[in-house]
Amino acid sequence: MENQGKKMLESAQALIIKTAEKIQLDHEMIKRLIEPEFAHEFALTITMDNGNKKVFKGWRIQHNSALGPYKGGIRFHKDTVREEVQALGTLMSIKCAVAGLPYGGGKGGIMVDPKTLSKAELERLSRAFIGRIAHVIGENIDIPAPDVNTTPEIMSWMLDEYQKVIGRKSPATFTGKPVSMGGSLGRTEATGRGGLFVLLSLLTKLKKKAKGTTVAVQGFGNVGYYFARLATEAGFKVVAISDSRSGVYDKNGVDLDRALKNKKEKGTVSYGKTISNEELLELDVDVLVPAALENMVNDKNMAKIKAGIIVEMANGPLTADAYEYLSKKGKIIVPDVLANSGGVTVSYLEWVQGKAGYFWSEKEVNDKLKIMMEKAFEAIWKKSNPPAGGEKKMPLKQAAFEVALERITSAMV
Ligand code: NAD
Repeated sequence: MENQGKKMLESAQALIIKTAEKIQLDHEMIKRLIEPEFAHEFALTITMDNGNKKVFKGWRIQHNSALGPYKGGIRFHKDTVREEVQALGTLMSIKCAVAGLPYGGGKGGIMVDPKTLSKAELERLSRAFIGRIAHVIGENIDIPAPDVNTTPEIMSWMLDEYQKVIGRKSPATFTGKPVSMGGSLGRTEATGRGGLFVLLSLLTKLKKKAKGTTVAVQGFGNVGYYFARLATEAGFKVVAISDSRSGVYDKNGVDLDRALKNKKEKGTVSYGKTISNEELLELDVDVLVPAALENMVNDKNMAKIKAGIIVEMANGPLTADAYEYLSKKGKIIVPDVLANSGGVTVSYLEWVQGKAGYFWSEKEVNDKLKIMMEKAFEAIWKKSNPPAGGEKKMPLKQAAFEVALERITSAMV
């Protein structure tokens, strides 16, 4: 089977090398930015419900800690391999720097299809994972969080196991926890909300208004749903949404309550005019928001994309080729490392609250998120649009990588 993780890693490293060469970093510095500081690889053995032992492979890769403790999720997926975890850890270093957080980047994973496990097996596996990494994580060392197929409940098992190992409470070692265990209000909506703040900031720069701006959102999960809901509340016209099964188009704005009800009751968001995922991507809208999976915009459909603004709410929704092609065509592409950094930003706010033992209202969290996202956007915009007579204009993604590498390397001694 093709190693997708290897491709992801090569492409993340190529982006870093290209940016580093442009800003004239020396060879050794580039090497320090590419190689992870630590790569923990291990086998986990758990007892299955039938009494047999089973072995799984797991990783925690700590990429760069110049700006602060490593930060990044833990994913459970059947295709997870070391290179994928390393690629995602590398991109977390960039994302945390772009978001202006005092964190480095890391990522963890287990090669497992969690659907094949009972709940008790899943809990044993989660606890076994912590057994392997407890000595290398901590609130000032490395702070894990949920990722693909891991949930607040899994974080609560992991935190419980970690606290048993170290013999004291340390809620700030994990983020994305249930609110009852020290999680933050506002975390569930944070990624969608953060993306909306970024889009609003962009429209202000373009001297455009939310009202009447048409939007199509691909993906109706945590990120897509809240983005669509909050964008509608902000005055955007969300004319299309979709999930893995189908989509709906409504020129007057999608009835999100109805779509959500349909999804719960019938398993499909559709009502009225049903559209396919391909049709959604190719709609003539002002803003396209891919918020489902990676590589959804690729060499097969890139020539048909009509939206002038693309907000990458999923991680890597555009392939490298599609990105180059659409960027050259003059599309404004808000890169994932900025657009979806609202999630890790509220994780940071959860960490601050956990360390202080003092918890904010949802409004306080949302207000802080707004300030932080606007600040993050402003720095990238400024880099992308230098004053006349200075450097050339550059796409937001390149600007984001430059800002990130400048921030990281300025903290590397
Ligand atoms: P999710 O599992 O809640 O939702 C994913 C959605 O995508 C579902 O509605 C699913 O039906 C849909 N989908 C799957 N395949 C599809 C297809 N082929 N076409 C159209 N829709 C499809 O996941 P999520 O948490 O919303 O994450 C979405 C993306 O955002 C991922 O790339 C994730 O890595 C990224 N992300 C999430 C967060 C977060 O806080 N949840 C933070 C940063 C980045």
